[in-house]
Amino acid sequence: MMLQQTQAKTVIPFYNKWMKKFPNIQSLKSAKIEEVLKSWEGLGYYSRCHNIYGAAKNLDSIPNTYEELISLPGVGDYTAKAILSIAYKKKYVGIDTNLQRVASRYLGIKNLTKKNLQRISIVLEKNQPEDSPGDYNEALMDLGRHVCTSTKTLCTKCPLVAGCKAVKSKNPLLYPLPIKRTKKIKVQAAVCCIFNKKKQILLQKRENTRLLSGLWEFPGGKLEKNETPIKAVKREIEEEIKVKIRKPKYCGLIKHSYSSYNVEIHVFMVFLDDTTIINDNKKLKWVFEKNLINFAMPKANHKIISLLNQY
Ligand code: SF4
Repeated sequence: MMLQQTQAKTVIPFYNKWMKKFPNIQSLKSAKIEEVLKSWEGLGYYSRCHNIYGAAKNLDSIPNTYEELISLPGVGDYTAKAILSIAYKKKYVGIDTNLQRVASRYLGIKNLTKKNLQRISIVLEKNQPEDSPGDYNEALMDLGRHVCTSTKTLCTKCPLVAGCKAVKSKNPLLYPLPIKRTKKIKVQAAVCCIFNKKKQILLQKRENTRLLSGLWEFPGGKLEKNETPIKAVKREIEEEIKVKIRKPKYCGLIKHSYSSYNVEIHVFMVFLDDTTIINDNKKLKWVFEKNLINFAMPKANHKIISLLNQY
């Protein structure tokens, strides 16, 4: 599941750390979600982490049938088939973008229509050997990663060269045609790093949000239409924390790119006066700066911490 959306070389250190902490399903299901999210921190696409945790809660072992696997949260066709072929040596092919590309070139397919994707799946499964289905699956993944990549083809070293249709064309890189990506939306936000008398910083937990749910962050939110950053930060803090902040100091702008949007965050800081009281609760926590490391946060918040260190 870590390998969904993320390259193996990025995943490896996270995977090793994760397996030390959660070597089996039992250790994962008895952990708290905060602890689990902390182990995932930095890998992104946090819904995967919630899905693994949610799946583990109802399991004693990893299922070995397609129907059971596909019913788990976060397990789609690719993940189910990759698990079945690699872990259980069953005849299924998990088709990722590497396999899609290699098969498209081999079969001379330019457009990845639904019908052509079905054809790729049928051909790949038909040629999968009974005795080593997982090796076949991984070999094709490696071929796509190192020999038949999106930017280069090492056709003279490729074991598929004899039957490959794309190699007969002038430019195998034209197979398949790229899928048009939708442009990322831009989001403007303003957050405030609120300090108390003990120099602790206030963190707020994101809950029931579509993205980054369960992570901790500095309070704030999106700018409304025609709203200035300072107005937005004052409004957000009043709405969310029920506290009016006066004269927050502007610290700077940080930019971050998430999978589906780019965000620009205007960062403010403020010291609360003695009369303002905000108590710790399930959603709010006062934290000393040195302890921020214990809280799983979205990546953009780490940039905010670096910015704060300049003050
Ligand atoms: S022969 Fe070339 S284009 Fe065809 S699969 Fe191999 S590397 Fe890709």
